[in-house]
Amino acid sequence: MTTTMKAIQKTQPGPGVKLIDAPIPTPTSHQVLVKVKITSICGTDVHIYNWDKWAANRIRPPMIFGHEFSGEVVEIGSQVEHIAVGDHVSAETHIPCGGCFQCRTGQMHICKDVEILGVDRDGCFAEYVAIPEICCIKNDKSLPWDVASVQEPFGNAVFTVSESAVAGKSVAVFGDGPIGIFAVAIARAYGATKLIACGMQPFRLELIKKYQPDHVIDVTKADPREAIKEITKGEGVDVVLEMSGAERAMHDGFAALKRGGTFTAFGIPSGPVQIEIAEEMIFKGLKLLAINGRRMFETWYEVANLLGSGLVDVRPVITHEFPLAKIDDAMAMLNAKEIKAGKIVLKP
Ligand SMILES: [Zn+2]
Ligand SMILES: [Zn+2]
Repeated sequence: MTTTMKAIQKTQPGPGVKLIDAPIPTPTSHQVLVKVKITSICGTDVHIYNWDKWAANRIRPPMIFGHEFSGEVVEIGSQVEHIAVGDHVSAETHIPCGGCFQCRTGQMHICKDVEILGVDRDGCFAEYVAIPEICCIKNDKSLPWDVASVQEPFGNAVFTVSESAVAGKSVAVFGDGPIGIFAVAIARAYGATKLIACGMQPFRLELIKKYQPDHVIDVTKADPREAIKEITKGEGVDVVLEMSGAERAMHDGFAALKRGGTFTAFGIPSGPVQIEIAEEMIFKGLKLLAINGRRMFETWYEVANLLGSGLVDVRPVITHEFPLAKIDDAMAMLNAKEIKAGKIVLKP
């Protein structure tokens, strides 16, 4: 076997990346080596690529980034017990420490000492990636590589919607990124009775329509507060899923929520957000949920059930595929003022 591989590296602090020849990682005793078949670009990767404030604080170059992928196991460490060479896998990208209070009490998804693949350690924008056995998600071999690759962000949406108990409820989803679109699809599948999707990118609002929400609101053209008020006959929605991280969407979400409703926060704002806690939260008696990652590992089984049963089809959201070496072209699409892509996958 050759000893080097092509990889995309953030070589030094600052914008951009380099295509490099890197050594193929050697799995430690509890790791497996995966040949990456497809990897997908996450919003996090765009932040790292552009080198924004968050990335400058968090990322320590040189580092191979990327965390969403599917691939085939080609080598296993000496202590690996449940994964075999030839298995098709994806990864839970939050690598838990295993020893903290959260890890030991069924809350591994909020591990105090979590390490994130492609953020805190070398990731999967490469031909090979080494991951701990515990983070391996064994995929059904019939699952297409591109679909398998987007299970990680899809899992974010599954966790968000599941926790929010949407069955029989009116639901407004704010945000038209891939996870927002997935949330609409899952809320529909999970029995939301009145489903409203809010976004601002025309291309993505068209993608959302494929999942048949009852109403789609382009917030650049209509005030979502007024629109939702009208749709719900002045009551507001039972559940708001905030998937955008935009401050304006948060205020709109609070305003559009019924008294006593559930506000679920998933989108990450780029800085502090000013909230009128009394008016927007307390006097409304709302329930606030905050979602991070995916529940380990219940969410992954739910993901497999949803995709395996065909109840939700993620394919329409995967709009483009580029060779890994053409990552600059993919990033240019995602950095455009008008984004004309859903999820972009890369082929090493
Ligand atoms: Zn991701
Ligand atoms: Zn931990």
